Amino acid sequence: MATLEFEQARACVIERVGPLGTVETIPLEQAAGRVLASDVLYDRDYPTADRSVRDGFAVRSTDLPGSFEVIGEVRAGGLFNGEVGAEQAVEIMTGATVPRGADQIVMVEHTTVDAGRMITERPGKAQEFINPRGIEAKAGTVAAKAGQRITYATVAQLATVGAAKVNVFVKPRVAILATGDEVIPVEATPQDFEIRNSNSYSVAAQVARAGGEPVILPVAKDTLESTRQMIEQGLQCDLLLLTGGVSAGKYDLVETVLAEFGAEFFFDRVRIQPGQPLVFGRARDTFFFGLPGNPGSTMVTFELFARAAVELLGGQSESRLLLAEAKLTNGFHVKPGLTRFLPAMLNPDGRTVTHMPWQGSSDIPAIARANAFLITRPEQENFQAGDPIQVLIQ
Ligand code: AMP
Ligand code: MG
Repeated sequence: MATLEFEQARACVIERVGPLGTVETIPLEQAAGRVLASDVLYDRDYPTADRSVRDGFAVRSTDLPGSFEVIGEVRAGGLFNGEVGAEQAVEIMTGATVPRGADQIVMVEHTTVDAGRMITERPGKAQEFINPRGIEAKAGTVAAKAGQRITYATVAQLATVGAAKVNVFVKPRVAILATGDEVIPVEATPQDFEIRNSNSYSVAAQVARAGGEPVILPVAKDTLESTRQMIEQGLQCDLLLLTGGVSAGKYDLVETVLAEFGAEFFFDRVRIQPGQPLVFGRARDTFFFGLPGNPGSTMVTFELFARAAVELLGGQSESRLLLAEAKLTNGFHVKPGLTRFLPAMLNPDGRTVTHMPWQGSSDIPAIARANAFLITRPEQENFQAGDPIQVLIQ
């Protein structure tokens, strides 16, 4: 069975997973965060007419500098019906349509007005402070593309072109199946050998952020019957995410049971830490991931691999990691050979990052104090303050 490097494993997911493709139409005010299912075109040129980008006076540039007769006013939402002639000016507000004849705006700050005349020392410069019709976008070209995630800026774009309703892809339903006899409900009080189920909740939060519809299933016991029964349910969703039960332990049954369902496995190990045992495959036409059970591993491997699958099933044309680069404020050492993801604090200056101590992938407190993961490459062992380093943002 295949052991892959981090980039190969990611490429394997991205190559295999495509859009489910079911479309629904929703009101624009519900569209943020969804994935557009059809291209939206510019309905007209933008701006629709030559627009002033300053408060001031519209004049003919060839008349500058000089003294001008003020023949009227135009504001945003209005129109000046006449034409600006020689040594004439029309007072104009930001956003208003430039009157015929004028080809320059003189900022109000550069003028004095006295007895119906405007005087300015500004030199002539054709088109100054005018956005001509169509400079931002041309009618009939693509305003927003199918497969793009709708951001607040996309919402502004869709509103501008009159898309009161938008076609989006239906969210993929993602089954979340935690496994383990030691895993008990959040409401319960654990005995010393038990642990509350945090993975189902962190994965659900990550699924929702990736544009999926989380479906949390009851926790599977470490028995063949229970694991079979829950996987059977999980495979009815568009994607199945299991946590735990994928290591080499005697009670790690996930791969065995998936194989019984006729699963095809694309990889079952990736050279990363946390999260080496990590299964990706397909059974009954449904993709699945067996994520490692340690909470730090679960969170990191979701971000690295499963998030791409949720996004691509949801119709996104591409999936990218939330990466940044920053300078280390402190040094540390790691053993070489693996790509590692270590809890870190990306500082408010936005330029530096601090490596944080942790006790390994069960250390939820350390990861919850952090806001990012440092990425170390297999060949590098020593890191010093001031070194540039890549960061995966939480
Ligand atoms: P496993 O991969 O099944 O051996 O799980 C590794 C460890 O992860 C277990 O010993 C638990 O401490 C922890 N773990 C597994 N499942 C969960 C879960 N749903 N929530 C929190 N911790 C878990
Ligand atoms: Mg287990």
